[in-house]
Amino acid sequence: MKEKFFITTSIAYANAAPHIGYAYEVTLADIIARYKRMRGFETFFLTGTDEHGDKILRTARDAGKAPQVFVDENVKKFEVLHELLAISYDYFIRTSDKKNHWPGAQALWQKLLVGNDLYKGVYKGLYCLGCEAFITEKELVDGKCPNHNIAPEKIEEENYFFRLSKYGPAIQKAIESRELNIIPESRAREVLSMINEGIHDVSLSRPERDVLWGIPVPNEPKQTMYVWYDALSNYISALGYGRTDNEKFKRFWPADVHMIGKDILRFHAIIWPAILLSAGIPLPRQIFVHGFITSGGRKMSKSIGNVIDANEFITEFGSEAVRYFLAREISPTEDGDITRERYNPREFYCRVQRKPCERAGEPYLAHAPDGDAIFRRCYFKAEGE
Ligand SMILES: [Zn+2]
Repeated sequence: MKEKFFITTSIAYANAAPHIGYAYEVTLADIIARYKRMRGFETFFLTGTDEHGDKILRTARDAGKAPQVFVDENVKKFEVLHELLAISYDYFIRTSDKKNHWPGAQALWQKLLVGNDLYKGVYKGLYCLGCEAFITEKELVDGKCPNHNIAPEKIEEENYFFRLSKYGPAIQKAIESRELNIIPESRAREVLSMINEGIHDVSLSRPERDVLWGIPVPNEPKQTMYVWYDALSNYISALGYGRTDNEKFKRFWPADVHMIGKDILRFHAIIWPAILLSAGIPLPRQIFVHGFITSGGRKMSKSIGNVIDANEFITEFGSEAVRYFLAREISPTEDGDITRERYNPREFYCRVQRKPCERAGEPYLAHAPDGDAIFRRCYFKAEGE
């Protein structure tokens, strides 16, 4: 039998059109998936959208739409992006999919409950609506979340807690032995120092009065699964975990690569492995942590308003040019900056098209997508020089 290879991206938050950061992540994963298929691996490439939680509900309300209608509309924009970028994914998981995602999230929950790793407690804390996560006093900069530049809300509520603290030593051992290999090394050290500083139990549900848009906790209709738990479980629910048709889970799990951004490292390198350990499920083999694509030196964020719409960007410059640019011009483990000023069409095109063609000793017109107006403009300008 062929060797298997399972690669995932993080699932994008479906509260807007995909931005270039998601395009970057899905392109990197696509390149690896294509490479593995060429090498003869039976490959499964998973991507999808994270569609629950407070922020989606509020954004949908502001737009005067039902949350399902709202996410359905945004998911169409992801489909357009995947087509534009020729992303060769095998499955697209949506967390609002009751048939394919919910059974996995709920079966996993039951495992944690039976394993005595869930308990009820009162949570008091600061919650960043941008992160959809609790945030500590220490992480704030001038009283605001450094990623979103907004002040967190004070929250007190009864939730289910997960005994994360129990799993620190086991996760440390898995990372040090590279059973769980974190790339680059600097991110592995970052996780180890988080563990050394001490990890605390985490809230895994929210009361329904706050969050009406999510997966209900089994046998506990007043509680909704915390959106991060819900999202993380996509990596196994998509393979059929918790369903009778779970052949893909048996074949492809554990993940060979989880491709993620640096902002969700803690969730993937501590909380997710702990959940898996608790449920008796093997750990993913590797977590690849890429940097942010910044715009004008700042993280692109819907809250900050400097987001580059990926679909517009690709339509303007052409998919091959954008794919090549993202893979070649940005270091996969560090931040890279894109602004329209820096990459005006002509400069962008010449830079991207020239390199591979020069190497091959061909005129770079040979690789132009047919009828691409921007390319022609660029080419004729270059000819006139
Ligand atoms: Zn935040």
